[in-house]
Amino acid sequence: MAKNKAFFFDSVLTDSGVENDCTLEVDDGGFITRLAPHSQPAEATDSTESAESADNEPEAQYVPGMVLPGIPNAHSHAFQRAMAGLTERNDGSEASFWSWRRAMYKLANRLTPDDMRVIALELYIEMLKSGYTSVAEFHYLHHGIDGTPYDNPGEMSLALLDAAEEAGIAITLLPSLYMTEGFGKTEVSADQRRFANDLDGYQKLWESLAKAVGARTNARLGFAIHSLRAVHGTNLIEADRLLKSLDQSAPIHIHVSEQMAEVNEAISHLGATPIRYLHETVGFDQGWTLIHATHATGAEVEMIAKACATVCLCPTTEANLGDGIFETAGFLATGGFIAIGSDSHISVDPREELRQLEYQARLYHQKRAIMVDFMTPNVGEALWCRAAEGGADSIGQPTGYIKPDKRADLIVLDSNHPVLAGRESSAAIDSFVFSGQPTPVRDVMVGGKWVVQNGRHPGEEDAAQAYLTTMRSLMTE
Ligand SMILES: [Zn+2]
Repeated sequence: MAKNKAFFFDSVLTDSGVENDCTLEVDDGGFITRLAPHSQPAEATDSTESAESADNEPEAQYVPGMVLPGIPNAHSHAFQRAMAGLTERNDGSEASFWSWRRAMYKLANRLTPDDMRVIALELYIEMLKSGYTSVAEFHYLHHGIDGTPYDNPGEMSLALLDAAEEAGIAITLLPSLYMTEGFGKTEVSADQRRFANDLDGYQKLWESLAKAVGARTNARLGFAIHSLRAVHGTNLIEADRLLKSLDQSAPIHIHVSEQMAEVNEAISHLGATPIRYLHETVGFDQGWTLIHATHATGAEVEMIAKACATVCLCPTTEANLGDGIFETAGFLATGGFIAIGSDSHISVDPREELRQLEYQARLYHQKRAIMVDFMTPNVGEALWCRAAEGGADSIGQPTGYIKPDKRADLIVLDSNHPVLAGRESSAAIDSFVFSGQPTPVRDVMVGGKWVVQNGRHPGEEDAAQAYLTTMRSLMTE
């Protein structure tokens, strides 16, 4: 019979703050069965594998350092990692979200399933090494390069699932429904043919993926509606009905109110701002995540908080694309739930997303240390916990906390790293979030298994080599 594994850590960020000298037990399914603070280090061994003692209690593997819950990356388009940094120029014509999107479509329309797997594997290893332990892949690149569906409609999605499995990151796959080019249109444009499905096609895709995801560990299937530009009117009402019939409990994500052009077009075509239109047409609740929600009005910010929907913020991407700033501090003050995502992957580090979130508010309000709550006066700690817990709800995975019945998804910080020198407890977490490069993340565990140890992922050299080969080929085509 399989036995629990046990680990002994110097300190652990729990849901009641930082606790010292913790023994953590994990079952063979990767779930935490016991967390015991103030336990005895003498019972621990420093072996790399836990073992059983004579009385069948698992001997604990001692891992020095501070342990935090891993962060869910709640919004990723993996293939966009390949174009990070390639649109940072202005040749005199207007550089905007829409010019960036033209460049993104160019790349999207060249990628094969194998390119997708190679790019995603490199990205997912980068995510793990920076402290993300799960990812929600908002995936819309479904069909072949000419827009014809593959024999297996989930071919491109399987490339992402394979990459996640090989990297060892937990994944929530969110196949995206994309039906029209924009408001007032009935079809997609030529450069969106790979994205397009009608509702029957989407149902077939989703049902084939349900089988593929069901056979994998640490994987989950949800839904994405690309945006109101892509799905509105009768399409939106019928899509909502279909999603509810397929799985009532699966998470639903949608891009909304990212750009003012989108808000203004929604007002002129639909008679309402996107968030209000969504709310009045199909409604949203705690199962929904609104990606960006950048231009939400004050009333909409309250509406989202009241519905217990999550807002997923992607601060480095939103800054990179010149989107605007969501009123995060006000949303948190009304009890709103947030998650973070690296979206276009201009940065792959949860600390940078959280810093940027806090710094936007500091620059705007001309104050410091804004995003705290009454439980946690330390900004780094408060934001890390909010993003871990909110991210877990957003992507529908049993993670985000280190406590029994959650999956053992965690990171270990190197207490000897200069960034953490002389720091303990909450001050160490603040220093980790706000200070310095490279990252003090030393070890990473997903589902009770070490996927990064001593800053190294066992597949990183091979993944990087394959990525280099693929990128050189794509860049010269
Ligand atoms: Zn996105």
